[in-house]
Amino acid sequence: MIDRLVIERLYHLETTVRINEALSKHTTFGIGGRVPLYVKPLTLRTLPEIVSLLKEDDQECKILGIGSNVLADDGPLPFCLLDMTDLNGFSQEAKGIVTDAGCPLRKLSRVFCDHGWSGLEFAAGIPGTIGGAIMMNAGAYGSQIGDLVREVETFDWDSGRYRVYSQQECGFSYRNSRFSQTGELITRVWLKTVAGEVDKIGERMKDYECRRFDKQPLEYGSAGSVFKKPTEDFHVGKAIESLGLKGYRIGGARVSHRHCGFIINEGSATSADVRALIDLIRERINRTFGIELELEVCLWSQ
Ligand SMILES: Cc1cc2nc3c(=O)[nH]c(=O)nc-3n(C[C@H](O)[C@H](O)[C@H](O)COP(=O)(O)OP(=O)(O)OC[C@H]3O[C@@H](n4cnc5c(N)ncnc54)[C@H](O)[C@@H]3O)c2cc1C
Repeated sequence: MIDRLVIERLYHLETTVRINEALSKHTTFGIGGRVPLYVKPLTLRTLPEIVSLLKEDDQECKILGIGSNVLADDGPLPFCLLDMTDLNGFSQEAKGIVTDAGCPLRKLSRVFCDHGWSGLEFAAGIPGTIGGAIMMNAGAYGSQIGDLVREVETFDWDSGRYRVYSQQECGFSYRNSRFSQTGELITRVWLKTVAGEVDKIGERMKDYECRRFDKQPLEYGSAGSVFKKPTEDFHVGKAIESLGLKGYRIGGARVSHRHCGFIINEGSATSADVRALIDLIRERINRTFGIELELEVCLWSQ
């Protein structure tokens, strides 16, 4: 139960506030139960006050980008949501580009291309924010966002202070960073700019986007690849296919025909359907290959 005074005070800040909001509206899976409170700050300035109000009221809070890597439970959820997507500005500084955490990767990728900066081509088709990408060190086609990072600024819930981490301190590794462990709120990111040729950068982006269009079930709700690659040479999608699970369906959730590493929502999938498919795949992969698949997608449970 949220204190009415807290809600009233939030309404007076530069922020969008909604009560009893369906998370399904904010995830690319189109899945997720209701949260008691949804807060979307319009400016970075208001963040410290929002965080302190939620903390005062002892509210657990999850940070949300565009929800493209989240699978949340179906029932009422016991946490508030802090949606970062209105904090989406960026500017150029001597050190490179500084961007707010809610800036879409696709927008940044386009800006890099227009300026002739290479390195962010891989992100052209990844449907997330820079904050979400930093959290799990998003990557594709042999590149990852951590390689481009100069510094990351976070806001610490407990001390109420900002902190800046160098690239090394961010602890990036395959689909992982220090922030996946600490749950810190990423507020801004400084990215390196490396000169390249506009035409070549544009060609690479187009190539990557076409490959996604061909191989990924983009017409359905999903959260991208469900599982992390356990090793460099183990192809999860092909392994799932080899088990005869291509197109396998539970309720409204299906292993994609086009890319077996994706689970898609055919329209009516519940979180329970997707989780049942995940459990089945993990069990069969473990039994056949002796491999414990780790999830790439973040589970938000009741
Ligand atoms: C069709 C499709 C294709 C995809 N392809 C790829 C791919 O090629 N490579 C890849 O790596 N991923 C891919 N993804 C997954 C996803 O797009 C990325 O992981 C993306 O970076 C997630 O960003 P987001 O803003 O949607 O984060 P969300 O899904 O909103 O959040 C994911 C996690 O990050 C946390 N988080 C979000 N913002 C912040 C913040 N500001 N501070 C702290 N924590 C934060 C959340 O709390 C949550 O734990 C794909 C997804 C889809 C649907």
